[in-house]
Amino acid sequence: MRRQEHLRSVSRSLQRLAMARLATPLDDGELRRSAMVFAPHPDDETLGCGGTILQKRRSGADVRIVFMTDGAASHAHLISRSELRLMRRREALEAVEALGLAPARSSWLDFPDAELSLWRAEAVTRVSRLLEQHRPQQVFLPYARGEHSDHVATHSIVYESIARLGLAATLLEYPVWSWRHWPVAGEGSSWGKARAVLAGCRATVCGVRFLRELRTSVAIQDVVAQKRAALERHVSQMRRRNGAPCWPTLGDVDQGEFLACFFQEYEYYRRVDFRGTARG
Ligand SMILES: [Zn+2]
Repeated sequence: MRRQEHLRSVSRSLQRLAMARLATPLDDGELRRSAMVFAPHPDDETLGCGGTILQKRRSGADVRIVFMTDGAASHAHLISRSELRLMRRREALEAVEALGLAPARSSWLDFPDAELSLWRAEAVTRVSRLLEQHRPQQVFLPYARGEHSDHVATHSIVYESIARLGLAATLLEYPVWSWRHWPVAGEGSSWGKARAVLAGCRATVCGVRFLRELRTSVAIQDVVAQKRAALERHVSQMRRRNGAPCWPTLGDVDQGEFLACFFQEYEYYRRVDFRGTARG
């Protein structure tokens, strides 16, 4: 077991080094460009690109955040959806401010958490409207592979909306749950049984894909404390409610290794420069 952990630790360091070497940083001009950030759930904006939002604000960029779902399913077995919805809205507004944005810079589509794909047509209409109204030069959206269903749905809804409008924009896809791959965190980290080995193979493919696809970076060392402070505003996701041991937090995932992925020196993106043609 110790040898496996050592191998994982060495591989993780090599992967970090390779990702940092292979990625091209967004330059100052690009940091100044206007942006719209699509977050499937309240907290994804901070986890996936909180450091970048802070850097862009420092550069004076116009940034808006669109929350796709209400986040009311994260602890639905422990609290009513209506109470959780309100709680997450309040927390996210505080996080938005901690990222240097006025609350009015956020939009709330309020689709039901975990069911976004069922609302696809309406979501495309509403996302298209926002994109058309603000015409951002950059669009931040979730990476699609190995992600939660609402992240995959957001990815696809935003792509369809941009294609419809024929919007020329730089798309920057940020990973969240797909960080959970060997050797970075949890999944596939324990080898031995056939299932675990298969999970390890799948996760390793994911790691290779990261190296191949996440080739754009933003250095966040100098704003990482502010990013952490913004994430702490999502109290329901970061702290046990009333200290209840059964209340899961992001820090529980892979014994904290998952959360650590978001406080590295860089945030990474898959970049697509979109020159779509309007499909009407
Ligand atoms: Zn999410």
